[in-house]
Amino acid sequence: MSLLFPALHAASSQKALSFGDRSLSYRRLAAVSSGVAARLQTAAPVAVWATPSLETAVGVVAGLLAGVPVVPLNPKSGESELAHIVGDSAPGAVLAEPGAQLPETLGSLLRTDIEISEEPVAGEETWGLPSEPNPEAAALIVYTSGTTGPPKGVVLSRRAIASSLDALEEAWQWTADDVLVHGLPLFHVHGLILGVLGPLRRGGTLRHLVRFSTEGVARELAGGGTMLFGVPTMYHRLADACTSDPDLVRALAGARLLVSGSAALPLHDHDRLMAATGQRVIERYGMTETLMNTSVRPGGSSQLGTVGLPLRDVDVRLVDDAGRRLPAEDTETVGEVQVRGPNLFTEYLNRPDATAEAFDGGWFRTGDMATRDADGSVRLVGRKATDLIKSGGYKIGAGEIENVLLGHPAVAEAAVTGEPDDDLGERVVAWIVPASPQQPPLAEELTTLVTEQLASHKRPREVRFLDALPRNDMGKVVKRDLPGREG
Ligand code: ATP
Ligand code: MG
Repeated sequence: MSLLFPALHAASSQKALSFGDRSLSYRRLAAVSSGVAARLQTAAPVAVWATPSLETAVGVVAGLLAGVPVVPLNPKSGESELAHIVGDSAPGAVLAEPGAQLPETLGSLLRTDIEISEEPVAGEETWGLPSEPNPEAAALIVYTSGTTGPPKGVVLSRRAIASSLDALEEAWQWTADDVLVHGLPLFHVHGLILGVLGPLRRGGTLRHLVRFSTEGVARELAGGGTMLFGVPTMYHRLADACTSDPDLVRALAGARLLVSGSAALPLHDHDRLMAATGQRVIERYGMTETLMNTSVRPGGSSQLGTVGLPLRDVDVRLVDDAGRRLPAEDTETVGEVQVRGPNLFTEYLNRPDATAEAFDGGWFRTGDMATRDADGSVRLVGRKATDLIKSGGYKIGAGEIENVLLGHPAVAEAAVTGEPDDDLGERVVAWIVPASPQQPPLAEELTTLVTEQLASHKRPREVRFLDALPRNDMGKVVKRDLPGREG
């Protein structure tokens, strides 16, 4: 297995990472992270207090170099979530930015501050980089987003990480010349593995915004950024801002690749961005357990609203309720997405039961439901647990109804759920955040829109208005937190 970070070993003066106005070259990153790695004399995992900072990137790279499993912690986690994660993963130490206030829950852990000097330190040239550990050993323990239940610890090997990043290299023609711009948090796969380890593996550059803003995106793309990674809520804000910011329009139009993932990008936002910038946002589909599964290829055949074709070495199949594999010619039937490949995780930490349940003879059950276009592109319709509504004998995906509702000019945000119903089993309920609270859309208009664009049985039987949808820090709608619902 090749080295995870060949460019780090080459230690050039090229810029590797910047967070705001602080940056490190590959040479400095190699020196600083090998210094931290040398202090990690522990077999237990090490937690990283994952603020959006150079320190977090250095801490994660140091753990990977030392062969110590790294557990990124979300600094915005509540006490109980942190206690769950720390209790579950039992780290021996926590790495943090100097001066960061750590909560009491972490009080029993040995704290190591990550000191980053911009200038070389005496003696560091002798530290050297450790040789890379076993490709199958636990490299990262990443907790899922907790969208459908308490976060699960996912054990990822460097084999899985390398394989997924290399498949993206091929799909996106990702090279050392690429300068990636993003403002994603660093404790999930998207922001950390794709967003930090991706550029480092390619030998390219990351410019992290520290705080996402549409002005920051415009500035960094205009200043040499070639790729942008974001979640749908960010692209929504960019689409809004395009109406009044010509610099942003120019910057987005000039980017090589705009990539969206972690949740579905509504068609309405796709359309607005395409109209403003001429660019098609590339959607890719992945999860903590599988890293990346599919992606739209720039210039490829995948239609809007799909998450594209399987990535290299990833097998994808759709399976119906009876456990039968759907034939490739079937473009109608919704099935569960199951995947197999070198990108898969090792296990759920301390959860042999959940790990065993998640597999069907080597195939990982994603819990996501989809159909497949004739060209093989995957069309996600939602999650089995929360987005598949069984109403009047029909199976209805929440996602396509949400897409239609979001096309109404008076709708800012929309979520669709199935609520218990004596007649229908479940009835379709639309949760709507109006664009203007003074002028909410009429419920009849919304039901007509869905009937016209989809089918009458998919129309919401009830519309409930809200000020905002409950979302987690990846911007994903947490449906179990809608009023009156429970986990
Ligand atoms: P939990 O497993 O704790 O409930 P989660 O599933 O949201 O949380 P992640 O592993 O971060 O945690 O997210 C993976 C999920 O995100 C996928 O299973 C899928 O439902 C969704 N997802 C990822 N990319 C896309 C995409 N491009 N379009 C639609 N959904 C996506
Ligand atoms: Mg999940």
